[in-house]
Amino acid sequence: MSTVQNEVSGRLNARNRLRRRQRIVPVQSIPAPKAEPFKQWLAKVGNYSEIPNSSNSCDDNIAGEWIAAFKGGTVVVNAPAGPYKCPPGPYEYALLWAAHIKKNKLKAKVHMVDPGAKPVPPGVAVGFLKAIEANKDVLAYAPNTNILNVSAKDSMIETEAGKIKYDFLSIIPPNKTMGFIKEAGLGDPFIAVDPVTFRSKADERVFALGDNAATPYSKSAYTAAQSAKIAGAFIARAMGAKVGDPGGPHNICYPLVSMDSAIMVRADWSHGKDKDGKPAVITKGASDNDAKAQLLMLRREWEKGLLREMFGA
Ligand SMILES: Cc1cc2nc3c(=O)[nH]c(=O)nc-3n(C[C@H](O)[C@H](O)[C@H](O)COP(=O)(O)OP(=O)(O)OC[C@H]3O[C@@H](n4cnc5c(N)ncnc54)[C@H](O)[C@@H]3O)c2cc1C
Repeated sequence: MSTVQNEVSGRLNARNRLRRRQRIVPVQSIPAPKAEPFKQWLAKVGNYSEIPNSSNSCDDNIAGEWIAAFKGGTVVVNAPAGPYKCPPGPYEYALLWAAHIKKNKLKAKVHMVDPGAKPVPPGVAVGFLKAIEANKDVLAYAPNTNILNVSAKDSMIETEAGKIKYDFLSIIPPNKTMGFIKEAGLGDPFIAVDPVTFRSKADERVFALGDNAATPYSKSAYTAAQSAKIAGAFIARAMGAKVGDPGGPHNICYPLVSMDSAIMVRADWSHGKDKDGKPAVITKGASDNDAKAQLLMLRREWEKGLLREMFGA
């Protein structure tokens, strides 16, 4: 597997590179007025406000257009340091970039910079690494590598493994929370909750789940949807309803590793005791690291089921 270091020089000639406009897409669902924490983080690696052609992709939905308009060059993507939304997302994104480059026969290469030692979640690390290896002609994966700096002026990203001149830079920031959580004394940065009930440890009137809660569970939409039902049961109980033990949440995810195949990871959480008899969250997992079309079909059904559950349609 090639690393960023030995790919730094790239294969594209500098003249072509200069002709292309640089593209920078921070991918995260932070509405612009709330993007301050992200900007503060990005300030450590570059100056967002001074980066030309940059966008929070969810503000104006232009990321897809920019990817479609990309005609070749060097793409740099990252995995942020955890915790962050949708742990398999960055690897899936890098692999879909690779598939897009091959499908459209673009003269391009993707560099993925990862501060971790291998892809996450651990259950699908093997499947991701197999897919990365199969795409090594267009995808260079650099594990154990942090981003040090971004220079928009000369389209250069500096990483612990060396510098890369980019034509399209896509940065996923780490998860941040709202300032009022700390101000309200609910936790810092995440809301401290009992992982069984999702009740705040600081204020019994508050229940918190999803990306803002400090739990051992994945920060994913599916887990948040499961957790909401559990928190609802404990809220009903607090209001006097007779409700049985709802148990722990689970998460299932079918990350795409190509345009037509996916792998699968599942986690089931239950509540028990650790070896010292203290309350503990027990995690059981399952995974399928063999990419197949059937798992992609299951993903589509999974998506439909989640949407039906949320919106009843
Ligand atoms: C690119 C990407 C891909 C993903 N893919 C998947 C996937 O395939 N499967 C999966 O399960 N998960 C996925 N996730 C993760 C998933 O989106 C999140 O984990 C999930 O949305 C968390 O739900 P939440 O309700 O906790 O937070 P959010 O969905 O972020 O909702 C919080 C809401 O609160 C609003 N808000 C913030 N501050 C305030 C305020 N002060 N007042 C009022 N409202 C406020 C925000 O605008 C937002 O609408 C992905 C995430 C990203 C970014």
